[in-house]
Amino acid sequence: MALEREIEQLKAWIEESERIVFFGGAGVSTESGIPDFRSEDGLYRQKYDYPPEQIISHSFFLRRPDAFYRFYRERMLYPDAKPNAAHLALAKLEQRGKLRAVVTQNIDGLHQAAGSRHVLELHGSVLRNHCRRCGAFYGLQDILNAKEIVPRCHCGGIIKPDVVLYEEALEERVMEEALACIRAADLLMIGGTSLVVYPAAGLVRYYSGHRLVVINQAPTGVDERADLLIPGKIGEVLGRAVD
Ligand SMILES: [Zn+2]
Repeated sequence: MALEREIEQLKAWIEESERIVFFGGAGVSTESGIPDFRSEDGLYRQKYDYPPEQIISHSFFLRRPDAFYRFYRERMLYPDAKPNAAHLALAKLEQRGKLRAVVTQNIDGLHQAAGSRHVLELHGSVLRNHCRRCGAFYGLQDILNAKEIVPRCHCGGIIKPDVVLYEEALEERVMEEALACIRAADLLMIGGTSLVVYPAAGLVRYYSGHRLVVINQAPTGVDERADLLIPGKIGEVLGRAVD
């Protein structure tokens, strides 16, 4: 009952807005079957010799590319995943000229697969990969098709995904563009992220509008600042708010 009212409110705000920005995290893709590797339980953690945060770090990649790629292939690549109602609704809003940008922490490329064109990927993408030695580009299929667990370039160099690992800085250009879009937004929607870690929490501070919408089933770090708090599933909420 309450959810109904909140979705109606969101719908009305979307109607009145023309510079919407969506900021999303792992929760946007869980409905596409992509789990958040950070929130996995202890059982799964025991399967690997190191915690995910360590495996997905720059120094670990250099030291143990084999162990990195074993985890990466099993836990971070989902080539068969399809966009869900949330991705599709956001793509629709962009096509209607209402949404300026999707800012995402996800690396799965599902927003683009849904048709979104202006997607700012704070943590990079599994769809892009480069040779560390000569810089040659490789797509996701090249990584999937590689005969060895550690994919190598024709030149012999190791190929690295364009995914921002722990210990690595975010791409400045992407970050600046995200800030500019958020600053100019007339409606900021946040979904599928707990917003307790940098840079997500920091980015929201650049929004000075009065329509901050948080769509998340669990509490987030900005609930107190939200003008509209919708504790529902992101796909269901956006799917119903955008028809
Ligand atoms: Zn190369």
